[in-house]
Amino acid sequence: MTKAIRIHAHGGPEVLRWEDVPTPEPGPGEALVRQQAVGLNYIDVYFRTGLYKIPTLPATIGMEAAGVVTAVGPGVTHVKVGDRVAYATGPIGAYATERVIAADRLVTLPEAISFESAAAMMLQGMTAQYLLRRTYKVQSGDTILVHAAAGGVGLILCQWARHLGAKVIGVVSTEAKAELARAHGATHTIVGHAHLAEEVKRLTGGAMVPAVYDSVGKDTFYASLDCLAPLGIMISYGNASGPVGPVDIGLLGAKGSLFLTRPSLATYTAKRADLEWAARDLFEVVTSGAVQIRVNQTFRLAEAAAAHAALEARQTTGSTVLLP
Ligand code: NDP
Repeated sequence: MTKAIRIHAHGGPEVLRWEDVPTPEPGPGEALVRQQAVGLNYIDVYFRTGLYKIPTLPATIGMEAAGVVTAVGPGVTHVKVGDRVAYATGPIGAYATERVIAADRLVTLPEAISFESAAAMMLQGMTAQYLLRRTYKVQSGDTILVHAAAGGVGLILCQWARHLGAKVIGVVSTEAKAELARAHGATHTIVGHAHLAEEVKRLTGGAMVPAVYDSVGKDTFYASLDCLAPLGIMISYGNASGPVGPVDIGLLGAKGSLFLTRPSLATYTAKRADLEWAARDLFEVVTSGAVQIRVNQTFRLAEAAAAHAALEARQTTGSTVLLP
């Protein structure tokens, strides 16, 4: 037997239960991983609440972890027993001491990267990679707008964008978070979004920004559109405040021939070559010191409910890791 956090029904953090489950066996193309650290991500909240659908319950949530391969099924070529590995991918099931996963979704960890750091960076860091390098190719001299700038993805976006030579205007909810975002690369910070477009106008001398990275969703979507320069791109990549809902595309024309995308890491890493590029790029900026991974909270995996409550209450900053 092994241990896992399972949910039997959707709901608040209290539905997360620490239970015994049978140790899974790797099938063809799969590896069994003894997990040393599990990443906490906002998507785990969406699966727990039912905003994102789970086909059958009970189920183990979680999309990201790092650990050691302890067995492989037939036909596995990407990894072998004893390898230090990490992943950020579906299907859900990461909140467990051991799990099986498709071996071609695993990335081998460089020695310099610890399990904790890997579990903190794979999902949020590869997300920052594709957002800055592919969804909108950030150029030196750009000024971009980043929401939830002191969060997990946010702190990585701020540092990586600065490394690319861009200026970041970070949006946060408190002064303390503003200070943290500035300490990690944000050039300017805005506390709250009540006067977002006016503030962005002032900070950019009227030019506005070519790209907005909005992970907050419902509460900020329309204010974000107003911050874009003509032909700018609205990158709506999350819904921490709730889903945006249907959008009148006529608005995009009226506000300056804007682009709108709703990207996901799954699409951007679906091909093995893209996954390897994202991970390599991430490991490079982290090992060079250009981007520091801030594990500002750790919880026992058994106490995942407390971690979820903190994340939803906006009490966390940077990344959070759950320890099996
Ligand atoms: P964060 O650490 O950023 O935590 C969420 C933050 O969102 C909070 O700290 C808070 O920052 C802000 N927020 C604003 N409004 C609310 C609200 N009503 N309730 C709770 N939080 C709110 O989480 P992650 O780094 O894990 O994820 C950030 C976002 O990125 C999420 O929306 C997630 O779904 C998305 N994401 C998308 C991916 C993709 O490929 N599309 C991949 C990875 C993440 P503040 O207090 O400063 O406002």
